Amino acid sequence: MRTLYVRIIATTMGIMIASALFAFVATNVYYHYYLKPVNDQKVTQIAKDTVATFEENEYEDPFKYLTVFADLGYQLYLIDQQGNRAMFGDPFRNDELAEEHIESVLSGETYHGIADYPWKVFVTGFFDNELQNTIGEPIQVDGETSALFVRPNTTQQFGEMRFFLAVLLGLALLFSFLFVLVSTSFIVRPIKRLTEATKKIAAGNYHLKLNVNRKDEIGRLAVDFTKMGDRLNQTEEKRQAFVSNVSHEIQSPLTSIQGFSQALREEELSEEDRDRYLGIIEKESRRLSALSKQLLTLSFLDSELRVSDMVELDVAAQLKEVVSMTEYHWREKDITIEMDLSPNLILGDPGLLQQVWMNLITNAIRYTDPGGMIVIQTAKGKEGVTISVKDSGIGINQEDLPQLFERFYKVDKARVRTENNTGLGLSIVKRIVDLHSGTIMVDSELGKGSEFQVILRSKDMFYL
Ligand code: ADP
Repeated sequence: MRTLYVRIIATTMGIMIASALFAFVATNVYYHYYLKPVNDQKVTQIAKDTVATFEENEYEDPFKYLTVFADLGYQLYLIDQQGNRAMFGDPFRNDELAEEHIESVLSGETYHGIADYPWKVFVTGFFDNELQNTIGEPIQVDGETSALFVRPNTTQQFGEMRFFLAVLLGLALLFSFLFVLVSTSFIVRPIKRLTEATKKIAAGNYHLKLNVNRKDEIGRLAVDFTKMGDRLNQTEEKRQAFVSNVSHEIQSPLTSIQGFSQALREEELSEEDRDRYLGIIEKESRRLSALSKQLLTLSFLDSELRVSDMVELDVAAQLKEVVSMTEYHWREKDITIEMDLSPNLILGDPGLLQQVWMNLITNAIRYTDPGGMIVIQTAKGKEGVTISVKDSGIGINQEDLPQLFERFYKVDKARVRTENNTGLGLSIVKRIVDLHSGTIMVDSELGKGSEFQVILRSKDMFYL
């Protein structure tokens, strides 16, 4: 199974192995280009000193001298004019050497086998125990020139060190492997929890308990995830409340329609009662029709992210039109309407905005007692165009104001029932204003009246 855990471990291991390989190649390159000549010079000096000391002191037994010197940590190879060979110290793994090199040393030249050792990527020349990898120096033995080849005995000189380094490297690798195993599980664990949380959310359980105290990206993810769970929970609660409100709003007119249609079947029913019952049935079905229309509007508005049909329009003209459309209702209640409107161009959806003014003005008429007054004003300010609908009506309690724009919220349930209202009007208004990136505010005092203010961006603000 390719889990994140396995992936991280495999990647880290891969990185470690690749780094080790790169480091090995880089060290080799460094040895070949920089250390090799230095090493060559050093060994050449040692070979020259050895030969000089030997020749100056004219030792009786040259082999003994060379054996002692080899014991100090060198491998020596002696070839005389007749081609006799002698080895001192640890033997060479490979003692082949081209005749020309031997000849050149016998004729008095120095052989630089270390500096000239061929370049190979995966071969550390430093440790190569070959006769080719030596320094050759002419040496006078018994009055005759022989060739002495010298190289440090790396096995002897670095034997323990090599073991030490190998153990160090091995342990470093082992420990890093163990730490990667443990630390990866720490990295992966919160991600596993988040995955389990997504499963819970998918199963409809939005109450998540995640560690939100971490300050890193995973912590932030957990915070956002918890917020998302809370939001989903709220949305789900709202959805349930909405469905139950809709069913309730549909149920009551239906019950009423059923009751009165049964009553109509009774034979001994006066003409007057029959007429009244029919009137109620008609009113309730109109109420149902209005409700379904408003629900459709809301569902359409919910599916929109922004207004798609923005056109230039004059709010003052729209407000005047709505006032004249509702004339029958305000005249019937003997309400005075005062208008202080100046032409104000904005960009918006004319149909939707007209619905805003219609809902606000019909509410003002509905909740204002006969003989009252409604003032409609527009004003242009820094924030945009402010449209105000103020009435001298019944007013709204301060506690009710925060919920006023919620779906199905009605302040006075009993009154609203008789007034044939749904409690959806202001939520539609709010949604339309939101879609226009505007704001809506309400100020009200019980018994004195209410003022609704809508602020929309004026046309010139769109081009800023
Ligand atoms: P409805 O269709 O019931 O009028 P709204 O969403 O338009 O639904 O209004 C919600 C509630 O807000 C109403 O039931 C009413 O109690 C209150 N309300 C709205 N406008 C006014 C107003 N101008 N004056 C007093 N109360 C109001």
